[in-house]
Amino acid sequence: MALRNIREMGEDVLTKKSKEVREMNDRTRALIDDMLETMYESGGVGLAAPQVGVLKRIVVIDVSDTGDEPVVLINPQILETSGEQTGWEGCLSVPGKSGKVTRPLYVRASALNRDMEPFEIEGTELMARAICHELDHLDGKLYVDLVEGDLVDNSELEKEAEEGSEQENGDGDNREEKAESAT
Ligand SMILES: [Zn+2]
Repeated sequence: MALRNIREMGEDVLTKKSKEVREMNDRTRALIDDMLETMYESGGVGLAAPQVGVLKRIVVIDVSDTGDEPVVLINPQILETSGEQTGWEGCLSVPGKSGKVTRPLYVRASALNRDMEPFEIEGTELMARAICHELDHLDGKLYVDLVEGDLVDNSELEKEAEEGSEQENGDGDNREEKAESAT
């Protein structure tokens, strides 16, 4: 396994549509391993192949606190969404920034696993957000185009969170206010 270079906003590869994976081979297996390693090393909860410069429809996600629940989605497709959530979102390709994005609260998707076997995955909250964010990457879309208001520096956000902590009344939304969903 090896770390891959994460491409940043402004690079062409992030605006292109990725191609379906037709067959599994050693090269693609190595890519998936490298994507996982790169995601964990960067502290992200998801990474799409175009973010490491490869235009293949492959996404890795791990929204667990422990970082030991990797999900590999090959040729993923969203089957169903419902509800709505608005919260802070970040992207490893847009380092140091966050923005508020509205996404479905629930997502169900189909994909192939690393053995090219079909499966379905569903998730709410951060998992639903991560699936939507990563699948957008496969179509050359970045979350910055969906941001409501301005992109803000993460350092500003942390400051605000400290200052605003007295106003937080535990209404359940605060967890999402943390801009740690860099994907
Ligand atoms: Zn991203």
